[in-house]
Amino acid sequence: MLPWFTERYLQIIDRLLKQKLHHALLLSGPAGIGKYELAITLAKVILCRNPTARGCCETCQSCLLFDASTHPDFYALVSEKQLGVDKIREGIGKLSGMSQLGANKVLVIPAADLITESAANALLKTLEEPTNKTFIILLTAKAQHLLPTILSRCEKHFFSTPAPAQSLKWLKGNGVDDVTPALLEAYGNAPLRLKQALTNESGISYREFCDGFDALLAGKKDALSLANDWQEYAVQVVSWVQQFTHKSFLQSQQVQDYQNFQVCVDALKSLMHPGINKAVVLCAVLDTIANPEHQRTRNIK
Ligand SMILES: [Zn+2]
Repeated sequence: MLPWFTERYLQIIDRLLKQKLHHALLLSGPAGIGKYELAITLAKVILCRNPTARGCCETCQSCLLFDASTHPDFYALVSEKQLGVDKIREGIGKLSGMSQLGANKVLVIPAADLITESAANALLKTLEEPTNKTFIILLTAKAQHLLPTILSRCEKHFFSTPAPAQSLKWLKGNGVDDVTPALLEAYGNAPLRLKQALTNESGISYREFCDGFDALLAGKKDALSLANDWQEYAVQVVSWVQQFTHKSFLQSQQVQDYQNFQVCVDALKSLMHPGINKAVVLCAVLDTIANPEHQRTRNIK
């Protein structure tokens, strides 16, 4: 179990064992802190035939099937697109009827904010009148996007990012060495997001960005060549530049730093448009930071 969840995890199990756990749980908090991992671990405990106060037994038929990803009474509605009525009905369909192993059934919805309004209405009925021994675990990084009718029917668990010291310790224990608090902060203090980025071969690492950005500020690299190299990761790069400008402004209180920050905010908006030339947007941002006088000239024109 991720250490920042341990306390809440044990409380939830305690209520499960006392048969007091609500049938619909909402786990809400920033992306990259491990909510899905928590949901999966909870699902396994809820399904286990011999759970204890510490968690599942790991040896019963249910635990073995769960580990083999073939548990017939577990279903996760994983989706990156909107979750429409069909998908929700498919999930609910898995919960109707008797559980195949004769114990609990669990449905996990990893991105509950992607549920469309009509699909939410389909889900409401199940949330109001769940079939026997059924648990639904909803996850979201955007609880404010959920319909109030869904929110009000869930037992809500809100999580924030773990304390940096705890995250750094966990990262070290999980093979991610050499991480500084600044690097963690660059990933929104979300340790799983950072781990994924550092162990992911594709994409751009924060270190690569820092090396290139330092070279830019030192006049050893130009904005155009960096923008060409980094255009595929434009959103990530501009987010990092934005953090840099935000920090600079907090320290300096200079108008120029605030303007630089605003340039990043506008660039991130532009990058949301499909078909936008990312290299051009990124080049303008990098050029502004490296050569503020260019921006002034642009404004005068
Ligand atoms: Zn078990």
